[in-house]
Amino acid sequence: MPDPQPNPPSWLPKQQIVVAQLASGILEYAQHAAAGGSFRLPYPANLQLALDRLTLLAWQQDAPAPTSVVDLLQLAEQPFDDWKISLADADVDPDESLLAYGRPTVTCEELGSLRGDVEGEIRENALMRAVMDKARAADAPQSYVAFRKLLIRHPAIAALDLDSRLAEPDLALLAGEVRDAYLPAPPQAIADGVVRTCAGCNGLRLPLDDDRSWVCEDETCPAPGTAGVDHPAGEGVWWLRRELRTFITAPGRAELRIADELSRLGVPVRLWPDFDACDVAVFGERPWIADVKAWRNPIRLARRLRERLFTVPAEAEKAFIVIGQEQVRAHPRYLDRLRKACPQVRPGQRVVAVSEAEFVRAVRKRMEAAA
Ligand SMILES: [Zn+2]
Repeated sequence: MPDPQPNPPSWLPKQQIVVAQLASGILEYAQHAAAGGSFRLPYPANLQLALDRLTLLAWQQDAPAPTSVVDLLQLAEQPFDDWKISLADADVDPDESLLAYGRPTVTCEELGSLRGDVEGEIRENALMRAVMDKARAADAPQSYVAFRKLLIRHPAIAALDLDSRLAEPDLALLAGEVRDAYLPAPPQAIADGVVRTCAGCNGLRLPLDDDRSWVCEDETCPAPGTAGVDHPAGEGVWWLRRELRTFITAPGRAELRIADELSRLGVPVRLWPDFDACDVAVFGERPWIADVKAWRNPIRLARRLRERLFTVPAEAEKAFIVIGQEQVRAHPRYLDRLRKACPQVRPGQRVVAVSEAEFVRAVRKRMEAAA
């Protein structure tokens, strides 16, 4: 990427907004394409707008502009480092791209979802709201927890398996909402009469363009490409809706791992207490609360946290932003970059950013000190 320009003229669109628009357009495009198979014109308005605005950026930078939406989509497959247009102000890393194998990347999701924040998306998602309202009306927090656990552990599920889980009392309350959360596995997931799953995340594996290699669709999968169970396609296989895979399943794996590990230590731990007041609450007295984040890019997360850090309840002794191990592994300097870009979560602040492993160690330390 070339250097950013000093003092941009006022007519020049903000890089951050252009990239967000492009990412939203790609997400819309992908959604249409997944629903209808082949894509028909017109392209989503955001793609056209992004094309116009990128053209302005290109002119101003003396760089070649994409000539069409098709051109733009090809550009979106390339890492930003290879772009001739500088996007140095756009909160993206040089190695990130918006599309991979024709599918939107996690980067694209983070940039393109309107707020880019999981909690907001969950609260504003109609289905999640219905689930919360119903569980609350029935005073059944355990049903809410069971719903989220199902979505995290089973992004893909055989029809018979789902039916039997819906017979369990906690989930029975939300049977209609659970069914709404899943769609039939798409035609491209079926070959030789079977639907292939991934052992790393229990999601689907989809074919690459060559139709011979099958890859896990989830970029944050802890063990991508490990072959899981093959389900007979004829018996029916469900796949979680895309937005729920992004906003519930991917960040949820870290939440479940933390809860499982702390439970094994014998520490009282609650997931999504009080219908999602936070992600994890540990200890009964003077609780520690944690907000688990699975953003791919620490700079985008820092911006988000600078805009709105969660409110810590007065009774909480400590509060943490916890970064999932997948993210920390993918970016060795993740926490340094986050703390540098967001001083509000540095050590000594009311809310401190830590890795998943650091969080578990800190909990263990308090427990051992109390024993
Ligand atoms: Zn996977």
